[in-house]
Amino acid sequence: MKLWKNGVFHTMCHPRDTHQSMGTDQGHIIGFDDDLVGLTFEETIDLKGAHVYPGFVDAHLHLLGYGQMLSRISLQGKSKNEVIDVLKQSFQGSLLFALGYMESGITKHDLNKISESVPIYIRHQDYHSLTVNDAVLNQLKYASESGVLTEEVALKAIDLIPKYNHDELKTILEEAIHRLYRYGVTGGHSDDLYYFNGFHDTVKVFEDVLQSMPFRTHLLIHHHTLHDFETSKKTWMDQSPYLQLGAVKMFYDGTITSKTALMFHPYQESDSQGIRVNDPQAFESYIKHARSLGLTVAVHVIGDLGLDELIDILQAHPPKSGQIDRLIHTPYLKKETLLKLKGMPLSIDIQPQFLSSDLPWALNRFSIAPELLFPWKSLLQTGLTISGSSDAPVEIPNPLLGMHAAIYRRSYHDGKVYDRDESLTPYEAVKLYTTGAQVQSMKDNRGYLKPGYIADMTMTKDNLFMMKEDQFFEEQIVMTVIDEKIVFRNTHKI
Ligand SMILES: [Zn+2]
Repeated sequence: MKLWKNGVFHTMCHPRDTHQSMGTDQGHIIGFDDDLVGLTFEETIDLKGAHVYPGFVDAHLHLLGYGQMLSRISLQGKSKNEVIDVLKQSFQGSLLFALGYMESGITKHDLNKISESVPIYIRHQDYHSLTVNDAVLNQLKYASESGVLTEEVALKAIDLIPKYNHDELKTILEEAIHRLYRYGVTGGHSDDLYYFNGFHDTVKVFEDVLQSMPFRTHLLIHHHTLHDFETSKKTWMDQSPYLQLGAVKMFYDGTITSKTALMFHPYQESDSQGIRVNDPQAFESYIKHARSLGLTVAVHVIGDLGLDELIDILQAHPPKSGQIDRLIHTPYLKKETLLKLKGMPLSIDIQPQFLSSDLPWALNRFSIAPELLFPWKSLLQTGLTISGSSDAPVEIPNPLLGMHAAIYRRSYHDGKVYDRDESLTPYEAVKLYTTGAQVQSMKDNRGYLKPGYIADMTMTKDNLFMMKEDQFFEEQIVMTVIDEKIVFRNTHKI
């Protein structure tokens, strides 16, 4: 039994519900303050006034994609010339793969000047597009004047890259989890099973790593791997205290950056309203397949028209009673669509940092702005559960940055606040990463600090409900605890 004392324990049952000490045993909370009188503890941890919250969970990210990014060449924030310089310096005669490129007009001709015969890939920041050289196009047997590939073609090009072996993937996952501990993250809902070594080996990588590194991992089953899941004889949801297999992941549309998100109005200087990634019949068959197995779905959707269409499809094919599907992203909405969402068996995974990163830049891509932009307050008012996430490696998986964006709605580009009415309170923002993120785990012992609940905790030096704007950018995390074990401790602070 452990006694955690001199903290401010925020239970998340109510904004002002706090305790000063907490007892844990065998990975669970046993009680607070007066409940603990007379008990004997093997270990006492003095928290020196730290603020304690239920462990933060990132509701949508790509753990392996994030770990991979940590070891790859980053083009983030670089101009066209800087990108070319970085690529030239990094090129050593073998396959080159760089990430985080923001479209600045680079074509295959620029990459061919570095090499025409060795594959060069630059992945765009939204992960839905790639720019490649002729070496890749030839291997792919695909003609493209620019070398810019999007969606399914981009995925086929990625498939040509030699796979990581099992141990390399383990290292990548360990890197990702180590970094998440430092951000106070104790769990994540991850979409990884399709993009690396296939369902079986990827699940094995998670099983192996989680044996020695606790992290509450919930893996979405990409629809292309659903057959492997069926034949694996694995049951749905719990595999171990740290691993769950969750909803079937599929894509309805693309992204704004790639102009593939499906919008009610065309993109600027274009007739295109974006795309449906799958033809409607194929998409419906994916949903029916998931339903035939009694599974829920998790659908990527960004465009306002895409969301409106998707709601109709889900209403025609509802999950079993008591189950809830999840929508991933939904930044742009028509007002009518909000009304349609009310009462649906859904939770929504939002990425508050997308507002800070994408506005006002995304608005310049539309011919007519969508009616609602990142309408988080309105979404909460529908009564649906909203969870916070980073979509890492797209954004940094630091929940404090997500909370900051949810509360302040400030763009990193022009410093302006967008639609203040849609701001969340600090309490609501913390809920996104605690109580909200737990709904899909289908466990009623997560997301709060309560007796009987799991002892996963995130500790900060200041009170998240009272912080000033700048404090969200400070080094706040003092300790991360999973299953009663301290997995990260900032020794400068505690
Ligand atoms: Zn994603």
